[in-house]
Amino acid sequence: MSSVLFKSVVKNFGALNVLRSLDLAVPDHKFLALLGPSGCGKTTALRLLAGLDMPTAGKVFIGERDVTRLQPRDRDIAMVFQSYALYPQMTVAENIGYPLWIRGTPEAGRKAKIGEVAAILEIGHLLDRRPRQLSGGQRQRVALARAIVRDPAAFLMDEPLSNLDARLRLTMRGEIKRLCQRLSATTIYVTHDQVEALTMADLVAVMHGGELQQMAPPIDIYDRPANRFVATFVGNPP
Ligand code: ADP
Repeated sequence: MSSVLFKSVVKNFGALNVLRSLDLAVPDHKFLALLGPSGCGKTTALRLLAGLDMPTAGKVFIGERDVTRLQPRDRDIAMVFQSYALYPQMTVAENIGYPLWIRGTPEAGRKAKIGEVAAILEIGHLLDRRPRQLSGGQRQRVALARAIVRDPAAFLMDEPLSNLDARLRLTMRGEIKRLCQRLSATTIYVTHDQVEALTMADLVAVMHGGELQQMAPPIDIYDRPANRFVATFVGNPP
């Protein structure tokens, strides 16, 4: 069963054709890295999935539901960007609980869930702090906690580690991978970093010029690239 599906998706910005005709089926519970050079259309694809933009043609499905025309809040997704977008005036606990609060979850339920995700991300001791009192890695953990607090069907990440230094990026790669293995959500992870994609994902979808070049497990992308572009991009040129 696939829980995220792009069906013949075209996206134009004026005369610019950014997605040609994207067909992509991500199996349930899998971690997919959407990999490609800057400008190939990765973020555009993710924004269409999130409902932040509409396709010019084609359809988008999440968990068997045609969500093409739905508002972001009705799509059962959570998103983490490279800038953490935490609310500076709120505590860590309030930041994490915000998606539940706006949906009217009672305080007791909120508190239990905040405690649960904070424990998973090992930030239980930071709940009373404000974002400015946190390190970069701690902020990223808070953003992840806020994203998973609602048990979304799909978990979308756009270059979430690109603002972190090299050492922290390495640590967070492992953390995000473990976190996604624990969750039942299907994960779509946008990156231009081959190593990140190949080491973190169950499946890698390589894009170039608005078109999908190949989707396969990391080892197959590396050992059996579909074409010269994929081979060169993942560092195993013919
Ligand atoms: P990637 O995430 O792979 O770096 P993007 O999806 O951000 O690529 O962008 C793909 C192309 O679409 C780029 O040429 C970019 O300039 C263009 N683009 C993205 N968003 C818009 C927009 N809102 N208006 C016009 N052009 C856009």
